Amino acid sequence: MILNRFYLRLSAILLLLLVAAGIVQLAVTLNSYRDFVRESDQRLNHDLAANLARTFQPFLADSLNEAAIDHVIHESMVMNPFIEIYVLDESGGLLAYFADPSKIKRMAVDITPVHQFIGGGSALPLPHLGDDPRSLTASKPFSAAATLVAGEPGFLYVILGGEQYDSAGAMIRESYIIRTTAANIGVIAVCTTLVGLLSFLLLTRRLRRVTDTVRRFRQGDWQQRVETTASDEVGELGAAFDQMADTIVKNMDEMRESDRQRREMVANISHDLRSPLTSVQGYIETILLRESEMTSQDRRSHLETVSRNVRFLSRLVNELFELSRLESGQSTPRRESFSIEELAHDVTAKYQPLAFEVSVQLSPPEPKSLPPVFADIHMIERTLDNLIENALRFTRPQGHVRINLAAEEERISVQVSDDGIGIAADELPHIFDRFYRVRRSPEGTGLGLAISQRIVEAHESTIRVDSRVNEGTTFSFSLARA
Ligand code: ADP
Repeated sequence: MILNRFYLRLSAILLLLLVAAGIVQLAVTLNSYRDFVRESDQRLNHDLAANLARTFQPFLADSLNEAAIDHVIHESMVMNPFIEIYVLDESGGLLAYFADPSKIKRMAVDITPVHQFIGGGSALPLPHLGDDPRSLTASKPFSAAATLVAGEPGFLYVILGGEQYDSAGAMIRESYIIRTTAANIGVIAVCTTLVGLLSFLLLTRRLRRVTDTVRRFRQGDWQQRVETTASDEVGELGAAFDQMADTIVKNMDEMRESDRQRREMVANISHDLRSPLTSVQGYIETILLRESEMTSQDRRSHLETVSRNVRFLSRLVNELFELSRLESGQSTPRRESFSIEELAHDVTAKYQPLAFEVSVQLSPPEPKSLPPVFADIHMIERTLDNLIENALRFTRPQGHVRINLAAEEERISVQVSDDGIGIAADELPHIFDRFYRVRRSPEGTGLGLAISQRIVEAHESTIRVDSRVNEGTTFSFSLARA
């Protein structure tokens, strides 16, 4: 509909332009043709007034013998019907004319062009126009010659062409050339209109294809693309739409994926909350029901299980909170300059009791006097805690866990490695996913590595893992130097 209107508008503009161009072209042709006719008229009849003056002289020199002149004029006019003869005094006043008096509109003409004509000879550029006594404004080509009029100096003034080409209509009617030119302009205009309308139809058809595609896309057909190879504006429009459509589809996919992840997370959270809660509820109810018949050892063991579950629940809730703050950007690094060597020493010292408990040797980094790093000390401690806890948890007794630090160009690399059970290659891509656990263990929430990854990413680095089953695992990342 819009395009139909667009097509109509284009066609109307084309028609208007063609009509205007045709009119201008015709006007220019008429004008130059009139000039051409006037010039050749004037050139051919340049000496007409001089010749007539010789014939008129006997009837003019002493006094105006009008009857005799009438006769001469009649003869001249028979030979050349397109001339009008006037006798002028020295200043251009009309002394005699040979025409219907009602046709004469001014009784004097400007004498300057007459002088120029007589003085200029053949060097005068033609057509050279003078006032037409039969009109108040028109100028026409003429021939003029000096002559004596009743003993006084005067002029014979001959207007050439008469009223022949006064109106454009008359010119078109009477001139073969002009008629043919007008007809040609008409034919050219019609042909141009047809070709123009056809090419507009083709052009707007491409535009219509774009709008059709956009409409179908809007109606839900997400696969619709213009797929044009043209490099003109319509092609660019099509390509821009295709890009926009790709972006929209990509965004929708991402939104669907994040929606799926959110639902999966809610399911995971509910599941992870339900089992410890059920267990807590069960043990507490058992204690309440059988309190009297229970030994204090049983009661203690039940309460320890309850306590372990509550600790897990509390850890799960805390880690979820921590992860959601990192993901939403609410928790951002508060960077400061500190020694990563000191931090690594402190963290290993903190975990020595746990290492002792599981009979794993936990070694601090070798002292290297490394430059300080610029990072959020609490976040990095949190990451080291998680990596060391995992390493201790997944390493068999008599195994080794160590932190390595090394200076790189502008950063300091941090590695936590163990010679524990390792991770199978097909599990590796998933271990940073939320809630992903290779094997469900009572302590693991499956959130630790997801949190560590977000922290490291917030420090413009990536956390890498290198692992082989039964050989060990190394996690590494880097920090900016202060
Ligand atoms: P969790 O709280 O279960 O440790 P993480 O996100 O920290 O959760 O770790 C995800 C999973 O990656 C763990 O369940 C474990 O299977 C595996 N994993 C992490 N670190 C190690 C390691 N050093 N050695 C072997 N497996 C590991």
